[in-house]
Amino acid sequence: MTTTPLERVHTNPATRARTRERIGLITEAARRAGSYAANAAHRPVFPSPDAVAALDAFRTGLPEHGREPHELLAELDAFGSPATTVVNDGRYFGFVTGGTEPAAQAAAILAGAWDQNAGGGSPVASVLDAVTCSWVVDALHLPPTAIAAFNGGATVANLTGIIAGRDALLARAGWSVAERGIQGAPALRVIVGEEVHASALKALRLAGFGEAQIERVPTDATGAIDADAFPADTDALTLVLLQAGNVNTGASDPFSAIIPGVRDRGGWVHVDGAFGLWAAASPALRHQVSGVELADSWATDAHKWLSVPYDSGIVIVRAREDLHRAMAGDAPYITFAADAPMNKGIQISQRARGIETWAALAALGRDGLAALIERTCSQARRMADALAAGGAEVLAPVQLNQVLVAFGDEESTLATIAALEADGTAWAGTTVWKGRRAMRVSVSDAATTADDVDAAVAAMLRCWAGLRG
Ligand SMILES: *Cc1c(COP(=O)(O)O)cnc(C)c1O
Repeated sequence: MTTTPLERVHTNPATRARTRERIGLITEAARRAGSYAANAAHRPVFPSPDAVAALDAFRTGLPEHGREPHELLAELDAFGSPATTVVNDGRYFGFVTGGTEPAAQAAAILAGAWDQNAGGGSPVASVLDAVTCSWVVDALHLPPTAIAAFNGGATVANLTGIIAGRDALLARAGWSVAERGIQGAPALRVIVGEEVHASALKALRLAGFGEAQIERVPTDATGAIDADAFPADTDALTLVLLQAGNVNTGASDPFSAIIPGVRDRGGWVHVDGAFGLWAAASPALRHQVSGVELADSWATDAHKWLSVPYDSGIVIVRAREDLHRAMAGDAPYITFAADAPMNKGIQISQRARGIETWAALAALGRDGLAALIERTCSQARRMADALAAGGAEVLAPVQLNQVLVAFGDEESTLATIAALEADGTAWAGTTVWKGRRAMRVSVSDAATTADDVDAAVAAMLRCWAGLRG
């Protein structure tokens, strides 16, 4: 007997009631999400101490009995919404958080209702994964035959790229990790820049490489690897990690000077480009990452500069078989296409992350993406110029969308950052650059306008002046 759509209409009253409840809750959640967005401009960018203290309402033991879901939603909104950092209203400049492209946020709501497991088995998730992966490769000007895969973030993407490289180098040396494992395998030489991101080091550790096995190449005043200091004697068992977009300065390593030699000698180059790789999407800024397309693998994030909701990282590998060798894994009841997400990454079951990135890229288009990258970079320059004009010290030339600034000595810089948080107009975090504490500003929210930059600068200078009485 074939099942017709009509036969899927439920007659069971309990099923009908559950469906009604689901509809009511989803609709109510979307309404509350809309009102959260409407109120964003009226909230301090970092929540007030009172709002944070009110989170105590959540600190209870596991309830013995279930509660009414509408009541839970109201509680989440009442105590949760005021205790958020307001990251998509243009004035959050912390980390490289990025905002949320409205289309991507809306797609996430619909995709939440779909609840597709992108690992395999969902037609819509498969198609949107495949299409979006090819769009990402295109947007980033990487080799068109490269394979891309979504995952939880650039750390996972770094790990995936490093494992693909490790296993490829060993395979070429006649050692199959799948058969013989890692213990006793030929030793790999691992080279990074002094300014390597903590994420890449964590990924190396997870892939079996400890601190003492990692060689660090000196970097220049901008935080990019000094090409002249890069070893010329790498071999076919060498794994090199380069960086597109230093998290403090935005600087990228000299790819054209390093990558061809390493690859000619048989080595593997992986690039951590969590945010910086997106410079390639702008004709005006692409020169900053020129030669990056020569690498073997790349890690980036959709949840930072592209403004896709968390958590969305992307790994891209030049040769499909290198990613498949490292990540393919199936079972008799889960045998999907070679390019199914479960065969391109660590996770089997996974969120259909491609949907949100599809929406962001479709809403922006190639020109809108370039405009987003260029606009945020020019706002970073605007911020640096205005802060310098106000007497603050800009510690490194602005290369992309990151600004490093000091307000007098370290104590005064930290006090200014704390005062800015309490002021609530904007938020930026701290870092250490060349041994010195600094404020670190990342303009990575598409919502940021010149007015937001000016308001943030005025607040920073006001907070600094307030310290001096
Ligand atoms: C943010 C960042 C990472 C880590 O990315 P996650 O998505 O947080 O895992 C790695 N490298 C660089 C350069 C970054 O900026």
